[in-house]
Amino acid sequence: MINTSNLTSSASVFSGIDLHTHTNASDGQLSPQALLQQALDNGTTMLAITDHDTIDGYLAIYGNVVHHSSLRLISGVELSTQWQGMGIHVVGLNFSVRHPAMVTLLAQQRTVRQQRGLTILNKLAKIGIFISEAELKHYVGQGQIGRPHIAQLMLDKGYVNSIDKAFKKYLGAGKVGDVRNRWSGLAESVAAIRAAGGVAVIAHPNHYQMTRTKLLRLIDEFIAAGGQGIEVISGRQHNDITQKYSHIANDKGLYASVGSDFHRYLMYAPSIGELAPLPDAVTPIWTLFQ
Ligand code: AMP
Ligand code: MN
Ligand code: MN
Ligand code: MN
Repeated sequence: MINTSNLTSSASVFSGIDLHTHTNASDGQLSPQALLQQALDNGTTMLAITDHDTIDGYLAIYGNVVHHSSLRLISGVELSTQWQGMGIHVVGLNFSVRHPAMVTLLAQQRTVRQQRGLTILNKLAKIGIFISEAELKHYVGQGQIGRPHIAQLMLDKGYVNSIDKAFKKYLGAGKVGDVRNRWSGLAESVAAIRAAGGVAVIAHPNHYQMTRTKLLRLIDEFIAAGGQGIEVISGRQHNDITQKYSHIANDKGLYASVGSDFHRYLMYAPSIGELAPLPDAVTPIWTLFQ
């Protein structure tokens, strides 16, 4: 297929397969029901809700989807993991949601998230940014605490003038609110997904600030732990990036995944399923789904 476009994913392309999305069970805007409705409205054929460290969004709509034969809902989660002092996100797909290995891991991650949220508030208070636990709880609602909730509070309380500033100055990598090294390890997370019959995928490989050598080392350890996939397409990205990760996937024998990483409607980010198709050269991860 000849691709005349520079971008593999623009507003005009739509592959209808989206294996990385967020709801308000974590840091997304839409309820699981609204996300599903949007996916159905735009003709998405395969969808995974991959909230940060929780499957509550998936569980909330699982029953509704049985009636929609046009859409296949895949169980999913985006696990926060640590590897060599870095935060690495691993997407788990098509696993048994009741398997004890996943249930246990998700319970641990929930506790880590709650404690980490409070630690961040304490650290911010020390530098004169005051957000109470009650305020945070109000913003998080029924979902899982994430830095985006804290960023939104910082914006609404006038401590910063944009979400981006909140991350750049206070919450992003290396800043005061970046509390790391508490998540489950990369290998442990992959093992839990595999034990539950799922496939593990390295999320948005182009987002990590690491050298190619380090990325290849990460991939080798990921594969040694049982990891099988990598996101060759993550959101709207340049074709060079797609080619780069297609080659890496094929060199390492990894299956290719694709996801918008949808959190909310934005002018410059893809909506659900609004993604370029995978290059013919790679093997799609869904060939592994039973
Ligand atoms: P957490 O899950 O608490 O570690 O928060 C990470 C989440 O914050 C990511 O999944 C993104 O949704 C969001 N995020 C990270 N960096 C930024 C940024 N610069 N601007 C807006 N959101 C961000
Ligand atoms: Mn997020
Ligand atoms: Mn992520
Ligand atoms: Mn994500």
